[in-house]
Amino acid sequence: MNYRVPLQDMAFLTRQHSDEHQSLIIEQAARMAEQQWAPANARGDQQGCQLEQGKVQLAHDIRETFCRYAADGWMGLALPQRWGGQQQSEVLAAQVGEMLTSANHALSMLPALTISACRAIITHGSDQLRDTYLPPIIAGQWTATMCMTEAHCGSDLGLVRSKAQPGADGYRIYGSKIFISYGSHDASENIIHLVLARVADAPAGIKGLSLFLVPEKIQNSRGEWQQDNSVVCTGIEDKMGIHASPTCSLSFDGALGYLVGQEQGGINAMFTMMNEMRLGTCLQGVGLSERSFQKSLGYAIERLQMRSLSGAKNPQGEADAIVEHPDVRRMLLTQKAFADGGRALANYCAQLLDQQAAEPNDKDATLLLELLTPIAKGFCTEAGLESASHAIQIYGGHGYIRENGVEQLYRDGRIATLYEGTSGIQALDLLGRKVLGNQGASLRLFTKKIHRLCNENLQHPQLAKLVQRLLPFARQWPELSMQLGVKAMQNHDEAGAASFDFLMYSGYVTLGYFQLKSALDAWQLLQQQDSAFSDDFLQQKIQLADFYLQRLLPRTAAYRETMLAGLESLNPVW
Ligand SMILES: Cc1cc2nc3c(=O)[nH]c(=O)nc-3n(C[C@H](O)[C@H](O)[C@H](O)COP(=O)(O)OP(=O)(O)OC[C@H]3O[C@@H](n4cnc5c(N)ncnc54)[C@H](O)[C@@H]3O)c2cc1C
Repeated sequence: MNYRVPLQDMAFLTRQHSDEHQSLIIEQAARMAEQQWAPANARGDQQGCQLEQGKVQLAHDIRETFCRYAADGWMGLALPQRWGGQQQSEVLAAQVGEMLTSANHALSMLPALTISACRAIITHGSDQLRDTYLPPIIAGQWTATMCMTEAHCGSDLGLVRSKAQPGADGYRIYGSKIFISYGSHDASENIIHLVLARVADAPAGIKGLSLFLVPEKIQNSRGEWQQDNSVVCTGIEDKMGIHASPTCSLSFDGALGYLVGQEQGGINAMFTMMNEMRLGTCLQGVGLSERSFQKSLGYAIERLQMRSLSGAKNPQGEADAIVEHPDVRRMLLTQKAFADGGRALANYCAQLLDQQAAEPNDKDATLLLELLTPIAKGFCTEAGLESASHAIQIYGGHGYIRENGVEQLYRDGRIATLYEGTSGIQALDLLGRKVLGNQGASLRLFTKKIHRLCNENLQHPQLAKLVQRLLPFARQWPELSMQLGVKAMQNHDEAGAASFDFLMYSGYVTLGYFQLKSALDAWQLLQQQDSAFSDDFLQQKIQLADFYLQRLLPRTAAYRETMLAGLESLNPVW
């Protein structure tokens, strides 16, 4: 089953703020995703990458597909016009981002990282850095990386050992980074590394780090960007999935670098990139759920096995299609509910980013984004994996073999709960910093929205039951956070013992809000004569919300119980 961009689902979310020009862009992006990116996915997985004499060669189809994307100007879609971008909305960029990652996860990382690096340069770089580096990147000639991880430090960036020595022309960077995605490749003329390193005498720990822009190639005496800059790719990883994406070890041996922002302001600057990437990784989870659903549904309609318990549904055939079996439907609806709910959450985060750009002093938008980013990243990637696992299950043994491509979905998607901060790290960030750290201010903002939506619809002629299912969470969620806060004051480890369960609980409630909203909107549209959506499509939205609120939201009960179980049961003797 070939990938089809869920254009209607996307249009349903943006129906109030999308114009003809944007629709045209979406259609073009959809064609690119379906006709170029998706067909390159399996071949990229089979061919992988080669390292030859310190240079990575991408799989042929991956390189060609990227070069076409870059030449067609997609890199600058949401980046500022000042440096050659098209300055389209974040909402539009998020939709395109989902299509590309659904079509080809491994390749989608290259533009995602490059665009996030641009954000860090725009927000923290000097005018000179911005004017020199952004135009060729935005034009698609150069790409960028994020260089944080070292062999002894991943989650704990405070341990970074890479060094920077100030000199007359900039800084000299020394150190070894590992796991750098697209740290070397042959699809762009230059690679701009954003490197976390410590200037000599800077304090230990995370606050002592600075961020440097380190080009792979610097200008020679004739001003051409052709001189090698002491950055060498020393190896690429042989790994579980995303084979088309080179995961590089890089050695910096006195490479020339330029400070981005202030000395010792590195982690702050890198966070601009990381937050953007976290929302990008959320899209990977959403895209994975969507792709898993599409492949599974196509198969479930065709695969004939056993008879429906309530009597034959395909009496002329040898057996009924497996889509008739309630257990298979359970899995399909779970995938679809995660895709739809996650997409709505991602779309809302993108709206908040647009709001922030329009009104930088909008404190509510900032608070909501802070709260929702770890939920979006942490929950949607975990949900994506569950969806991919269901895809294998729906295919049965045929899902476990390579030929059908669903095992690739799982292998590729598995990374999303790990990089850009593991789910454990997202969970700590959510509970520790974003909820307890601001005395629940951002959580209250969001639960007020749940409250309002529910209260306005308590007497709804058709959906009151769904409203009743979500309403209690508007109170229970902040109450739980307070209970955990009290425990954590006695022993900080209590927060760590509860954080993952709290993250998952938060994710289910958040998607519950978006599912309810989707059902209410669909119902509203059903009452109109001239809606752009078919009645069947709108009814499906209501059914999906009903499924979600009855069958997935109750998982919160288990998370609630386990998050309150405390530290005691986590003290084994090994
Ligand atoms: C394919 C791939 C691509 C990558 N791309 C990039 C890239 O482009 N740039 C880059 O800089 N890095 C990249 N990474 C690195 C990635 O971001 C790290 O692997 C990730 O952040 C986790 O770090 P780690 O692997 O060192 O695990 P560790 O930090 O050692 O964590 C191991 C486990 O311990 C848990 N843990 C750690 N600390 C805590 C804590 N305080 N509380 C609770 N649990 C904790 C973690 O959640 C995890 O489960 C990539 C990695 C891979 C595999």
